[in-house]
Parts: sequence; C-alpha cells; structure tokens
Amino acid sequence: MTKCNGCGADTSGVACEFCGAIQRPPSGLQDELAALEALTKAAQHITTESEGDGEVIGNFWRQAWLPTHPDALTQAASMALAGVQTGGDQQGHGETRMNRALMERANGAFRALELRAPTDSRVTVLRRQVEETRMKLDAGIAESNASERNWGIGLTVFLLLFFGGLALSIYLEK
Ligand SMILES: [Zn+2]
Repeated sequence: MTKCNGCGADTSGVACEFCGAIQRPPSGLQDELAALEALTKAAQHITTESEGDGEVIGNFWRQAWLPTHPDALTQAASMALAGVQTGGDQQGHGETRMNRALMERANGAFRALELRAPTDSRVTVLRRQVEETRMKLDAGIAESNASERNWGIGLTVFLLLFFGGLALSIYLEK
C-alpha cells in the first residue's frame, strides 16, 4: 500500500480507486485495463460523494487518463458511451456537462484508436456507436426543447382565453 499522489488515500493499484489519479505510468494492456477499472470505481465513488452532481462527474471524466493500447482504447470508448444519458427529460445543466465530457472522452478514445489501428474492425463499430449516441443525445435535447416550447404555447393560449373571457364578462356586465 502506498499513499495516493492525488488524494492521499491508501492505494496499491496503478490508478487510485478514490480520485482516479494515475500512480505510475501503466505499461501494457493488463496495466491499462486495471487503470480503467480503477477509474470506473473512482467515478462511482465521486458520483456517491457528489450525490450525482453531473458537473463534478463531468470534470472528472474530462481530466481522466486515456489508455494507448487498442483494446483498452475500445474499452474506454465503450465505457464512456455507456455513461451518456440520452433521455431528453433528464437534461439539466449538470447532465449536459457530464454527457458532453463523456462524448468528448469517447470521441478522443475513438480518434486515438483510429490513429493507432486504422484497419482495426472496431474503428468502424465504434464510429457508428459514437454517431448513434450523439444522434440519440441530440434527439433527446430537441425533444426537451419541444416540450418547453409546447408549454409556452399552452400558457399563451390560456392567458389569451383567460383575459379574453374576463374582457367579455366585463363587456357583458355593462
Ligand atoms: Zn486518490
């Protein structure tokens, strides 16, 4: 056990399971996968600590270490995509920040994989997954904008009817 160079917690791994700080340069696929696993644990820890604050989690992923091995890059991209929340009804400020950070991470891992292994069949698969997730995300955002717009129209109609009725009743009373 050593003390984490980021948060001071006891850690024995290649990355800290509490804050995600890398303790020594990961070398080789096994080391990189172990680091990714520690990052996942750190993200869970940070999610609990921050009570699911999307801004905090987004900042964590924005600064999180990215691997170099094609297998680990694929894993990192899939993990990031899996974390994106595409439901249109949960697009608060924090979720938007988190989704953006995860999309950037997925995209970063995808681009690195494309550079390192252009002929790897996973490049095509990941490109499609990144695009699909982005489309779902955009559709969700469009949906929530539309529901806000509908609400605005509903309110306008209500106010027109209300004041129209009021004006009519005043007119009829005269
Ligand atoms: Zn730490």
